[in-house]
Amino acid sequence: MKFHIMTLFPEMVLDGLHTSIIGRAEEKGCISIEAVNIRDYTADRHKKVDDYTYGGGAGMLMQAQPVYDCWKAVCEKIDRQKGNAAKTRVVYVTPQGEVFHQKKAAELSKEEDLILLCGHYEGIDERVLEEIVTDYISIGDYVLTGGELAAMVMVDAIARLVPGVLHNDESAQTESHANGLLEYPQYSRPEIWHDKRVPEVLMSGHHANIEQWRQEQSLERTRLRRPELYEAYLLANPPKVTGKKGRSICSVLK
Ligand code: SAM
Repeated sequence: MKFHIMTLFPEMVLDGLHTSIIGRAEEKGCISIEAVNIRDYTADRHKKVDDYTYGGGAGMLMQAQPVYDCWKAVCEKIDRQKGNAAKTRVVYVTPQGEVFHQKKAAELSKEEDLILLCGHYEGIDERVLEEIVTDYISIGDYVLTGGELAAMVMVDAIARLVPGVLHNDESAQTESHANGLLEYPQYSRPEIWHDKRVPEVLMSGHHANIEQWRQEQSLERTRLRRPELYEAYLLANPPKVTGKKGRSICSVLK
Protein backbone atom coordinates (compact mmCIF):
# COMPACT_ATOMS: atom_id res chain seq x y z
CA MET A 1 0.00 0.00 0.00
CA LYS A 2 1.22 3.48 -0.85
CA PHE A 3 0.50 6.56 1.27
CA HIS A 4 0.85 9.98 -0.37
CA ILE A 5 0.73 12.77 2.21
CA MET A 6 0.18 16.30 0.96
CA THR A 7 1.57 18.69 3.56
CA LEU A 8 3.48 21.91 4.18
CA PHE A 9 5.76 20.04 6.62
CA PRO A 10 6.97 16.83 4.95
CA GLU A 11 9.92 16.39 7.29
CA MET A 12 7.61 16.33 10.32
CA VAL A 13 5.54 13.52 8.83
CA LEU A 14 8.50 11.48 7.61
CA ASP A 15 10.49 11.87 10.84
CA GLY A 16 7.52 10.57 12.77
CA LEU A 17 6.77 7.62 10.52
CA HIS A 18 10.23 6.35 9.68
CA THR A 19 10.81 4.69 13.04
CA SER A 20 9.99 1.38 14.69
CA ILE A 21 7.39 -0.96 13.14
CA ILE A 22 6.16 1.39 10.41
CA GLY A 23 9.71 2.32 9.40
CA ARG A 24 10.70 -1.33 9.18
CA ALA A 25 7.57 -2.17 7.17
CA GLU A 26 8.61 0.46 4.66
CA GLU A 27 12.13 -0.97 4.48
CA LYS A 28 10.61 -4.42 3.84
CA GLY A 29 8.48 -2.94 1.05
CA CYS A 30 5.07 -3.77 2.62
CA ILE A 31 4.12 -0.09 2.46
CA SER A 32 5.54 3.13 1.09
CA ILE A 33 5.10 6.59 2.54
CA GLU A 34 5.77 9.69 0.51
CA ALA A 35 5.29 13.24 1.78
CA VAL A 36 4.75 15.86 -0.91
CA ASN A 37 5.38 19.49 -0.12
CA ILE A 38 2.38 21.57 -1.22
CA ARG A 39 4.61 24.66 -1.22
CA ASP A 40 6.59 23.23 -4.16
CA TYR A 41 3.48 23.71 -6.31
CA THR A 42 2.62 27.31 -5.56
CA ALA A 43 2.52 29.67 -8.54
CA ASP A 44 3.42 32.56 -6.22
CA ARG A 45 6.94 33.81 -6.82
CA HIS A 46 7.47 34.33 -3.09
CA LYS A 47 6.39 30.72 -2.44
CA LYS A 48 3.33 31.87 -0.52
CA VAL A 49 0.57 29.28 -0.05
CA ASP A 50 -1.89 31.15 2.17
CA ASP A 51 -3.90 34.36 2.20
CA TYR A 52 -6.57 36.22 4.17
CA THR A 53 -10.08 34.82 4.27
CA TYR A 54 -12.87 36.63 2.42
CA GLY A 55 -15.40 38.09 4.85
CA GLY A 56 -12.75 38.69 7.50
CA GLY A 57 -11.84 36.58 10.48
CA ALA A 58 -8.73 35.56 12.30
CA GLY A 59 -5.93 33.70 10.57
CA MET A 60 -4.85 32.72 7.11
CA LEU A 61 -6.25 30.13 4.76
CA MET A 62 -4.37 27.74 2.46
CA GLN A 63 -5.14 28.70 -1.11
CA ALA A 64 -6.73 26.44 -3.71
CA GLN A 65 -4.09 26.63 -6.46
CA PRO A 66 -1.07 25.03 -4.72
CA VAL A 67 -3.23 22.30 -3.19
CA TYR A 68 -4.86 21.51 -6.54
CA ASP A 69 -1.59 21.43 -8.48
CA CYS A 70 0.05 19.29 -5.81
CA TRP A 71 -2.86 16.81 -6.01
CA LYS A 72 -2.58 16.72 -9.81
CA ALA A 73 1.15 15.91 -9.54
CA VAL A 74 0.47 13.11 -7.06
CA CYS A 75 -2.25 11.69 -9.33
CA GLU A 76 0.04 11.82 -12.36
CA LYS A 77 2.65 9.86 -10.42
CA ILE A 78 0.09 7.24 -9.39
CA ASP A 79 -1.15 7.10 -13.00
CA ARG A 80 2.34 6.57 -14.33
CA GLN A 81 2.81 3.70 -11.90
CA LYS A 82 -0.61 2.06 -12.14
CA GLY A 83 -3.06 4.10 -14.17
CA ASN A 84 -5.69 4.25 -11.42
CA ALA A 85 -5.29 7.77 -10.03
CA ALA A 86 -8.90 8.66 -10.80
CA LYS A 87 -10.03 6.04 -8.27
CA THR A 88 -7.58 7.07 -5.55
CA ARG A 89 -9.34 8.26 -2.42
CA VAL A 90 -8.31 11.63 -1.03
CA VAL A 91 -8.77 12.03 2.72
CA TYR A 92 -8.81 15.56 4.06
CA VAL A 93 -7.93 15.34 7.76
CA THR A 94 -10.15 17.86 9.47
CA PRO A 95 -11.95 18.38 12.79
CA GLN A 96 -15.10 18.65 10.66
CA GLY A 97 -14.91 15.03 9.46
CA GLU A 98 -16.31 11.69 10.56
CA VAL A 99 -14.38 10.55 13.65
CA PHE A 100 -11.73 7.95 12.75
CA HIS A 101 -12.14 4.44 14.16
CA GLN A 102 -10.76 0.94 13.73
CA LYS A 103 -13.35 -0.12 11.13
CA LYS A 104 -12.42 2.85 8.95
CA ALA A 105 -8.73 1.95 9.35
CA ALA A 106 -9.51 -1.61 8.19
CA GLU A 107 -11.54 -0.30 5.23
CA LEU A 108 -8.78 2.09 4.14
CA SER A 109 -6.07 -0.57 4.53
CA LYS A 110 -7.59 -2.32 1.47
CA GLU A 111 -6.73 0.64 -0.80
CA GLU A 112 -3.68 0.34 -3.04
CA ASP A 113 -2.96 4.08 -2.87
CA LEU A 114 -4.27 6.63 -0.40
CA ILE A 115 -3.82 10.39 -0.53
CA LEU A 116 -3.96 12.30 2.78
CA LEU A 117 -4.32 16.07 2.67
CA CYS A 118 -3.11 18.07 5.69
CA GLY A 119 -4.44 21.55 6.31
CA HIS A 120 -2.74 24.27 8.34
CA TYR A 121 -3.61 27.74 9.66
CA GLU A 122 -7.39 28.16 9.37
CA GLY A 123 -7.70 25.28 6.92
CA ILE A 124 -8.08 25.14 3.13
CA ASP A 125 -10.15 27.05 0.55
CA GLU A 126 -13.46 25.17 0.27
CA ARG A 127 -13.48 25.19 -3.55
CA VAL A 128 -10.48 22.89 -3.92
CA LEU A 129 -11.81 20.57 -1.23
CA GLU A 130 -15.04 20.23 -3.23
CA GLU A 131 -13.05 19.21 -6.30
CA ILE A 132 -10.58 16.69 -4.92
CA VAL A 133 -11.65 15.32 -1.51
CA THR A 134 -13.50 11.99 -1.26
CA ASP A 135 -13.43 11.54 2.56
CA TYR A 136 -13.42 14.00 5.46
CA ILE A 137 -11.91 12.40 8.57
CA SER A 138 -11.25 13.77 12.06
CA ILE A 139 -9.06 12.05 14.66
CA GLY A 140 -11.18 13.42 17.51
CA ASP A 141 -13.31 16.30 18.68
CA TYR A 142 -10.54 18.80 19.34
CA VAL A 143 -8.56 21.15 17.11
CA LEU A 144 -4.88 20.69 16.20
CA THR A 145 -2.68 23.36 14.65
CA GLY A 146 -2.20 21.26 11.52
CA GLY A 147 -3.19 17.99 9.88
CA GLU A 148 0.25 16.36 10.08
CA LEU A 149 -0.28 14.63 13.44
CA ALA A 150 -3.71 13.47 12.30
CA ALA A 151 -2.27 12.04 9.08
CA MET A 152 0.47 10.28 11.06
CA VAL A 153 -2.09 8.76 13.40
CA MET A 154 -4.10 7.50 10.45
CA VAL A 155 -1.12 6.10 8.55
CA ASP A 156 0.05 4.26 11.66
CA ALA A 157 -3.39 2.75 12.36
CA ILE A 158 -4.00 1.79 8.72
CA ALA A 159 -0.49 0.52 7.93
CA ARG A 160 -0.42 -1.95 10.82
CA LEU A 161 -3.42 -3.70 9.22
CA VAL A 162 -1.61 -4.20 5.90
CA PRO A 163 -0.51 -7.85 5.65
CA GLY A 164 3.14 -8.33 6.59
CA VAL A 165 3.51 -5.09 8.56
CA LEU A 166 3.07 -6.63 11.99
CA HIS A 167 5.44 -9.39 12.94
CA ASN A 168 2.44 -11.48 13.93
CA ASP A 169 -0.71 -10.54 11.94
CA GLU A 170 -2.83 -12.39 14.51
CA SER A 171 -2.20 -9.73 17.16
CA ALA A 172 -4.21 -7.15 15.18
CA GLN A 173 -7.20 -9.49 15.27
CA THR A 174 -7.32 -9.82 19.07
CA GLU A 175 -6.56 -6.25 19.99
CA SER A 176 -8.86 -3.57 21.36
CA HIS A 177 -11.59 -2.51 18.90
CA ALA A 178 -11.00 -5.41 16.51
CA ASN A 179 -14.21 -7.11 17.70
CA GLY A 180 -15.87 -4.15 19.41
CA LEU A 181 -14.31 -4.80 22.83
CA LEU A 182 -11.21 -3.60 24.66
CA GLU A 183 -8.41 -6.10 25.08
CA TYR A 184 -7.93 -8.06 28.32
CA PRO A 185 -5.04 -7.18 30.72
CA GLN A 186 -1.66 -8.70 29.91
CA TYR A 187 1.38 -9.63 32.00
CA SER A 188 5.03 -10.47 31.43
CA ARG A 189 7.92 -11.55 33.64
CA PRO A 190 8.52 -11.48 36.58
CA GLU A 191 5.71 -13.56 38.02
CA ILE A 192 5.55 -11.31 41.10
CA TRP A 193 6.22 -7.58 40.92
CA HIS A 194 5.51 -5.07 43.75
CA ASP A 195 3.71 -7.91 45.55
CA LYS A 196 1.35 -8.28 42.62
CA ARG A 197 1.08 -11.80 41.27
CA VAL A 198 0.22 -12.72 37.69
CA PRO A 199 -3.32 -14.21 37.66
CA GLU A 200 -3.13 -17.93 38.39
CA VAL A 201 -5.08 -18.99 35.31
CA LEU A 202 -2.44 -17.52 32.98
CA MET A 203 0.18 -19.77 34.56
CA SER A 204 -1.97 -22.90 34.22
CA GLY A 205 -1.25 -23.71 30.59
CA HIS A 206 -4.98 -24.55 30.21
CA HIS A 207 -5.83 -22.86 26.92
CA ALA A 208 -9.62 -23.07 27.19
CA ASN A 209 -9.60 -21.55 30.69
CA ILE A 210 -7.19 -18.83 29.62
CA GLU A 211 -9.43 -18.04 26.65
CA GLN A 212 -12.50 -17.83 28.87
CA TRP A 213 -10.70 -15.63 31.45
CA ARG A 214 -9.56 -13.27 28.72
CA GLN A 215 -13.04 -13.01 27.25
CA GLU A 216 -14.50 -12.21 30.70
CA GLN A 217 -11.81 -9.62 31.40
CA SER A 218 -12.32 -8.07 28.02
CA LEU A 219 -16.06 -7.72 28.61
CA GLU A 220 -15.62 -6.35 32.13
CA ARG A 221 -12.98 -3.84 31.11
CA THR A 222 -15.14 -2.61 28.26
CA ARG A 223 -18.18 -2.32 30.56
CA LEU A 224 -16.22 -0.21 33.05
CA ARG A 225 -14.20 1.96 30.69
CA ARG A 226 -16.36 2.26 27.59
CA PRO A 227 -19.98 1.53 28.51
CA GLU A 228 -21.26 2.67 25.12
CA LEU A 229 -19.04 0.11 23.33
CA TYR A 230 -20.18 -2.54 25.79
CA GLU A 231 -23.86 -1.84 25.11
CA ALA A 232 -23.26 -1.96 21.35
CA TYR A 233 -21.38 -5.25 21.70
CA LEU A 234 -24.16 -6.83 23.73
CA LEU A 235 -26.75 -5.73 21.20
CA ALA A 236 -24.74 -7.30 18.38
CA ASN A 237 -23.78 -10.39 20.43
CA PRO A 238 -26.64 -11.19 22.83
CA PRO A 239 -25.30 -13.29 25.73
CA LYS A 240 -26.15 -17.00 25.60
CA VAL A 241 -28.13 -18.14 28.61
CA THR A 242 -25.69 -20.88 29.56
CA GLY A 243 -21.92 -20.90 29.08
CA LYS A 244 -19.34 -23.66 29.34
CA LYS A 245 -19.53 -25.89 32.42
CA GLY A 246 -23.13 -24.78 32.91
CA ARG A 247 -21.99 -21.35 34.07
CA SER A 248 -24.34 -18.50 33.22
CA ILE A 249 -22.64 -15.98 30.98
CA CYS A 250 -25.12 -13.41 32.30
CA SER A 251 -23.27 -13.59 35.63
CA VAL A 252 -20.05 -12.78 33.79
CA LEU A 253 -21.64 -9.72 32.27
CA LYS A 254 -22.96 -8.26 35.52
N1 SAM B 1 -10.67 26.36 11.11
C1 SAM B 1 -10.79 24.94 11.18
C2 SAM B 1 -12.10 24.57 11.86
O1 SAM B 1 -12.54 25.30 12.75
O2 SAM B 1 -12.69 23.54 11.52
C3 SAM B 1 -9.66 24.33 11.98
C4 SAM B 1 -8.34 24.43 11.28
S1 SAM B 1 -7.03 23.64 12.15
C5 SAM B 1 -6.42 24.96 13.13
C6 SAM B 1 -5.79 23.43 10.93
C7 SAM B 1 -5.73 22.07 10.28
O3 SAM B 1 -5.44 21.11 11.25
C8 SAM B 1 -7.00 21.59 9.61
O4 SAM B 1 -7.11 22.09 8.31
C9 SAM B 1 -6.83 20.09 9.65
O5 SAM B 1 -6.12 19.60 8.52
C10 SAM B 1 -6.00 19.88 10.90
N2 SAM B 1 -6.79 19.38 12.06
C11 SAM B 1 -7.07 20.09 13.17
N3 SAM B 1 -7.77 19.36 14.05
C12 SAM B 1 -7.94 18.14 13.50
C13 SAM B 1 -8.61 16.95 13.92
N4 SAM B 1 -9.24 16.87 15.08
N5 SAM B 1 -8.57 15.88 13.08
C14 SAM B 1 -7.94 15.94 11.90
N6 SAM B 1 -7.30 17.05 11.44
C15 SAM B 1 -7.30 18.14 12.22
